[in-house]
Formats: sequence, C-alpha cells, structure tokens
Amino acid sequence: MTASDPKQLFRPELSELSPYLPHAGTYAIRLDANEAPPLSNPTARERLARAAAATAWERYPDATQHALREAIARRCGVLPDQILVGVGSDEIIALLLTTLAPPGNDSHRIGVLTLEPTFVMYRLSARARGLKVHEVPLDAGWDLDEAATLKAVEALEPLVIFVASPNNPTGTMVTPERLTRLVEAAPRSLVMIDEAYVDYASRNQLDFLHRYDNVAVLRTLSKVGFAALRVGWMIARADLVAELDKVRLPYNLPSVSQALATIALTELAAEIDATCRLVIEERQRVTAALARMPGIRPTESQANFVWFETERNAGDLFAALGQRGILVRSFHGRGGRLERCLRVTIGTPEQNSAFLSALEDCLSP
Ligand SMILES: *Cc1c(COP(=O)(O)O)cnc(C)c1O
Repeated sequence: MTASDPKQLFRPELSELSPYLPHAGTYAIRLDANEAPPLSNPTARERLARAAAATAWERYPDATQHALREAIARRCGVLPDQILVGVGSDEIIALLLTTLAPPGNDSHRIGVLTLEPTFVMYRLSARARGLKVHEVPLDAGWDLDEAATLKAVEALEPLVIFVASPNNPTGTMVTPERLTRLVEAAPRSLVMIDEAYVDYASRNQLDFLHRYDNVAVLRTLSKVGFAALRVGWMIARADLVAELDKVRLPYNLPSVSQALATIALTELAAEIDATCRLVIEERQRVTAALARMPGIRPTESQANFVWFETERNAGDLFAALGQRGILVRSFHGRGGRLERCLRVTIGTPEQNSAFLSALEDCLSP
C-alpha cells in the first residue's frame, strides 16, 4: 500500500496556515508576547506551590469547573452560569467557531468579520474550520472605521464579529459610540468583544453585555501574570454559554490550572492589581520616552504594550534591537502601513529602561 499525500485528506484552507511558533533565539530581554512581569511576592509563589502539591493526581479535573467559575463570576460581577472557561481564550474562540451554522451555498453570509490589524487567532481559527473571514482596516487613528465596517456588516452579515478592545497590536480601544452603532447594526451577528487587556484599560465594556443580546465578552489570565495556566473565559448570556458548553471537551481544563487560577482570582487578586498598576505607570514612562525620540511615534495605549511607528524600516530597527539582546514584535512583514510599526511589551522597570536605552543607541547616528 502506498502512503497517500496527507494534503488530500485535509481541508484546502490548511495550505494557508503554518504552525504558530513564538520567535526562536536567545534574548536577554523578551518583550514580544505581552506577558506580565513575574509574580515577585515570595509568599504568593509559595501559596501556589502548596496548592499545586495538593492536587489529586489520579482524579479527572472538575468537569463543571465549579470553584473557578464562581471565582470568575464574583470578580467580574456576573453569574457563574454566564461563564464558559477554556484552555485560554483561544479555546473559546475555537469552540465558538466550531459551533457556527454552515452559511449554506447560496447565502451571502460569511463566518467571521474582524478588523485589521488585530489578534491573528480569529482568522487562523476560522480558516482552520473552513470559514470565510473578512477584515476591515482600522482608521488612521487605529479606531474602528465606522462607515467601512457597517457597510461590510450589511453586505456580508457575518455570523461572528470579533472586536478586540483594547486591540492587539495597537493598544487602542474602540470609541464606545462606534461600538454601540456596530452592535446595533448587526442584530443577526454575535459581537465578541475581546477584553484580553481590560485590566490595563481605563474602562471595560461589560455594559454592552447587559444592554444587548448579541454581545459576548472574552477575558483571560494570560496577560496579567498567569499565562502558564492557560485559563480564559467567555462572559455571555446563560443560554449562549449552555450551547457552547455542549462542544467543550470534557475535562478540558487541568486540575492544576483550575485550582491555581481560582487562587489567583481570589487570594491573589491584590497581587494582580498591583502588577497592573505598576505596568500602567511604566507604560506612561515608556510612552513619554518614546515620544521624545527622533522619528518615533508611539500610540497612546490602554494595554500592557506600546505600539509605535518609526521613520526607518521596522525590520532594521527590530534587528538592531535584537543584536542588543532585546526582542520586540515587528510588523514589517505585513506590508502596507504596518511596515514601519513595532510593538513592545511593558516589562519590569529594569527591562523597560534597558529597552529604551537600546533603542536610543539604535537611533543615534
Ligand atoms: C493574548 C490575547 C488573547 C489571549 O489568549 P489566551 O488563549 O487566553 O492566552 C486573546 N485575545 C487577544 C486580543 C490577545 O492579544
């Protein structure tokens, strides 16, 4: 028997995709993945270690994620049956896209509409499921382009609209009035507001959830110091949660993640808040320092990173920083107006200072 070409077995869309690989290489300072500075309080670290050691290793995890959903609900001010927990918010995105009704052959409707630039998982996860994706460019100030977006929504009636606000990689939030008009213009769509960075923002968008039936909100522990646990969740109407819960794999979230995330959201909530306050202070300092540098234009950020444009090619600057041991994220490969854009994660004060002096060094003639 001859082996068949695996490509014949799989969706043709897979040919567009490649594995998601973080940037390889050794760098003294990695500011490329929007991770928070490490938990520095030794008592808090000790508490997590003790809880991990108490795991019943022979048992399956709690399939209903009871304690964790209670903790999330209390911290977010909603009810536990409005919470669906996934292995990162990435899993929730995948679950949602898996459950969508097929648009049908003659339908004008598409699976997903999102904005550009934004978090790439919306597109990757949709394409892996054979769904069509339409991306509407953000306006010149990196806000939602209302006219273009509403026009696309009317023409395509997407099943899901993903809006990251604060947005990755721009750090900007959608103006509330524009978001309101988008939600009202899309009564047949589910508008998923991704609040992965909400802990660093001046406001949240939970009121949309209470005002509109077609809105859900995504959150995660990944950007506030607990990326290792892979815990993300959706907040939505209980009947929507119940539908998606039918396709959630049993025991999706490991016991250790459930236990430690519950502690993080309750006993260690003050630690998380302190980390966020430090990062916000540092973000102001880094943004102001960037604005003073020749040829650098930072965008005001509501997240734990800063998006900035350079007069030079972003790829050159990325390489020059890399030679100085600092890894950031460059968007030069995306072309167009992103060619001159970079994103730097806010790290510890020492890491941020090292980044700023390395950048100054790169820019000096
Ligand atoms: C990082 C990020 C996420 C987080 O995904 P997890 O799977 O929870 O780690 C979600 N949305 C956006 C916009 C992000 O930048």
